[in-house]
Amino acid sequence: MIEYITTRTLENSKGEAKGKVRILKLKEEENAKIEFKCPECGYDGKWDEKWGEPFVQGSGINQKFIIKCKNCNFSIKISKLKKEIKKKSA
Ligand SMILES: [Zn+2]
Repeated sequence: MIEYITTRTLENSKGEAKGKVRILKLKEEENAKIEFKCPECGYDGKWDEKWGEPFVQGSGINQKFIIKCKNCNFSIKISKLKKEIKKKSA
């Protein structure tokens, strides 16, 4: 069962959309699966991230995800979209 899934285009520090990320969290698993292409350095990787701080911050409508590039430490904050919140509470 999917608890949360999102795919986003990521912009680098110059505002160019060169990267992307997918976050997938299954209800039966403890960690989220991250697929990441860094918009800043081009690093491409997959890893598991603990579903909690510092990766997940806040809760409900204010929940944010902090993704850090494993190569260059470029940090990206992803906010939940309104439609994703609606879907979850429905
Ligand atoms: Zn990077």
